[in-house]
Amino acid sequence: MLHRPSPGPLATGPTQPARRRWLRSAAALPLVTAASGAPAPAAAQKTSAHIVIAGSGLGGIAVANRLSKMLDGAKITIIDRKEEHNYQPGYTLVATGVWPIGKVREHNAEFHPAGAEWIKDMVTEFDPASNTVVTAGGQRVRYDFLVVATGVHLDFAQIEGMDVAAIGSNGLASVYPSPQAAQATWNAMQAFTAKGGQALMTLPATPLKCAGAPLKMTFMLRDRLHQAGTLGASRVQFMSALGNVFGVPAVNDNVLARWKALDIGVEFSHKLTGVDIGARRAMFATPEGEKVERPYDFLHVVPPMRAPDPVKNSDLAWKEGPFAAGGWLEVDKSTLQHRRYPNVFGIGDINGTPRGKTAATVKKSAPIVAHNLVQVIAQQKPDVDFDGYTSCPMITREGSAMLIEFDYEGRLQPSLPMIDPLQDSFLAWLMKYRMLKPAYMAVLKGRV
Ligand SMILES: Cc1cc2nc3c(=O)[nH]c(=O)nc-3n(C[C@H](O)[C@H](O)[C@H](O)COP(=O)(O)OP(=O)(O)OC[C@H]3O[C@@H](n4cnc5c(N)ncnc54)[C@H](O)[C@@H]3O)c2cc1C
Repeated sequence: MLHRPSPGPLATGPTQPARRRWLRSAAALPLVTAASGAPAPAAAQKTSAHIVIAGSGLGGIAVANRLSKMLDGAKITIIDRKEEHNYQPGYTLVATGVWPIGKVREHNAEFHPAGAEWIKDMVTEFDPASNTVVTAGGQRVRYDFLVVATGVHLDFAQIEGMDVAAIGSNGLASVYPSPQAAQATWNAMQAFTAKGGQALMTLPATPLKCAGAPLKMTFMLRDRLHQAGTLGASRVQFMSALGNVFGVPAVNDNVLARWKALDIGVEFSHKLTGVDIGARRAMFATPEGEKVERPYDFLHVVPPMRAPDPVKNSDLAWKEGPFAAGGWLEVDKSTLQHRRYPNVFGIGDINGTPRGKTAATVKKSAPIVAHNLVQVIAQQKPDVDFDGYTSCPMITREGSAMLIEFDYEGRLQPSLPMIDPLQDSFLAWLMKYRMLKPAYMAVLKGRV
């Protein structure tokens, strides 16, 4: 369902002729154009190496496809029980009634490279000292080289009383866990916007995949209330466990200014610790140890995120520093090679690096990981560096978004010079709505 865009207080949607011009130029533009910097592969390198890839989400499959073209004779084994492939950047569109659920559901079998072995199981143990992983079924798989691509663990268990199966009922929502949860979130949002009331939108203190998603959900909820005519009967409150709502200061300030104009309230240093789903009450903790309880009609829960247990509990995890608590993979942030096990690389959300948990990050870093790994197979040093490129099309209302791109240092890195990253536009919306999925599929297939 695509509703007609509604003009909000900061709406800057283009006029019809300008929109037509933008549409014409958009068709010619590559989406999120960031080039990896990895040299174009020469002839395939001969090797008999066995490469194991743990995780077959975007990062795992993208690297597998690249390696299968760059290597001649390698054995590639992909380990992941999951058969469905989910286009996660589309979840916010499903959860806000823009896309049907079918648009985020694909099949992994269609994207694995020909000839790759697929072990349909989960890794339960990483033993890098013996170059072995162990699966839930007890299979021990030895490797010469390992790519860790397990993504994040959504730690809903840290929120007392939270029940993922209850998403969609009693005003409980969360875009994160699955396509079904995104669909159920849209059902809850529709029920809420029909009458209006008190909405609470949460943000945990951990690193997040797509840190913009909680903000997009907030902008879109406000827009849906506006469209339903129940905004006047409603209050939208964003509850951040941090002292900000987004880690890049320029974006944070921009979003807060927009929310002030849209009358979206913000409370900082309020961490969601519990929920009473039946009574519709949410519990928050503050740094001073205060316990705050809030009633709600609609609650959007963003879970704390960390590395999955098999990575967190292994010697592959950071042992000290800012990424140790989450058990994130200890990679060099530039080469994405493991800092202590040189035959191990990380791709995607699992990496313990500053920022960089988006599909756009995988787009730019998968060619670098594949290149650097092939270098190591050839007994050379990894020689291409990743700059931490991260991108987030920040939806500000239906029909409008900001295309925000930045690096490890939080410097804005706009790849399309005609778009001001902090100005919302129909073109950025069009990218999110129509162009990002084809770009994602090209990354998955190892084509870009
Ligand atoms: C709501 C939402 C909105 C988003 N919006 C955007 C956006 O607008 N733009 C953008 O660029 N990105 C966005 N993203 C982020 C993007 O989807 C992720 O960054 C990307 O999918 C990361 O790829 P990955 O391969 O690291 O992890 P995933 O794609 O999550 O894949 C991880 C895989 O590892 C497997 N796995 C886990 N544990 C194990 C194990 N022990 N053994 C074997 N396999 C295992 C899982 O089954 C899964 O298949 C969004 C994500 C969400 C959830």
